[in-house]
Amino acid sequence: MLRAANQLVAKALAEVGRAVKPGVTTSTLDRIADEFIRDHGAVPTFKGFPNPYGGPFPAAICTSVNDCVVHGVPNDEPLKEGDIVSVDCGTLLNGYNGDSCYTFCVGEVSEEVWNLLRVTKESLYLGIQAALPGKRIGDVGYAVQEHCEKAGFGVVREFVGHGIGREMHEDPQVPNYGRRGNGPLIKNGLCIAIEPMIVMGSPSIYMMPDKWSIRTRDHQWAAHFEHTIAIHHGKADILSSFEEIEQIEK
Ligand code: MG
Ligand code: MG
Repeated sequence: MLRAANQLVAKALAEVGRAVKPGVTTSTLDRIADEFIRDHGAVPTFKGFPNPYGGPFPAAICTSVNDCVVHGVPNDEPLKEGDIVSVDCGTLLNGYNGDSCYTFCVGEVSEEVWNLLRVTKESLYLGIQAALPGKRIGDVGYAVQEHCEKAGFGVVREFVGHGIGREMHEDPQVPNYGRRGNGPLIKNGLCIAIEPMIVMGSPSIYMMPDKWSIRTRDHQWAAHFEHTIAIHHGKADILSSFEEIEQIEK
């Protein structure tokens, strides 16, 4: 059930990916995702998601451009050549949740930015590799943090991965930093979303007046990649997928 919800997220992100180009607005991307999810019998879980600081989230996807780290609200400003946009998407299908995020390039990006995206995606897979029965959540965070900081990038602390199932956000929290051998024990049956949010400069962030968008204080750019995984039969099984997106990127 979780795989079905997450495969739908993967397909929705691929639909969005096909449309990402200079001149397109993030509200157009939102419309594409919203329609695609509903056409496949699911609900975009982000839409109407409550906010302790303000109004509910108004869209089906979060679109975080350049120095926006997470929770960017789709708007009518066209994307420009060289921008990056992190598209985070959630679905509820037959009572189970999908959650995945991918940072897309708008046309050609600088080598520096490409490197940020590469390292962040690599750190996601290193985190997944560390998510084995008998290990601890701190091992996952350590793997992500170690890889990104070694490359000279910063790890955002205020937002973390999470358990996932019937609710989009369940226990345990899955930070992108940590100490080996620390934190909750990973067991067969655990389902979590791992989602490194990595920045080129200082990991210090602030919230925009819209009470959703989170940006870096130094306005250096940020990347965000997320997979939902299930730990079972002694290994981490990736339930979401970047395969179709990566085909399009090629
Ligand atoms: Mg997400
Ligand atoms: Mg998530």
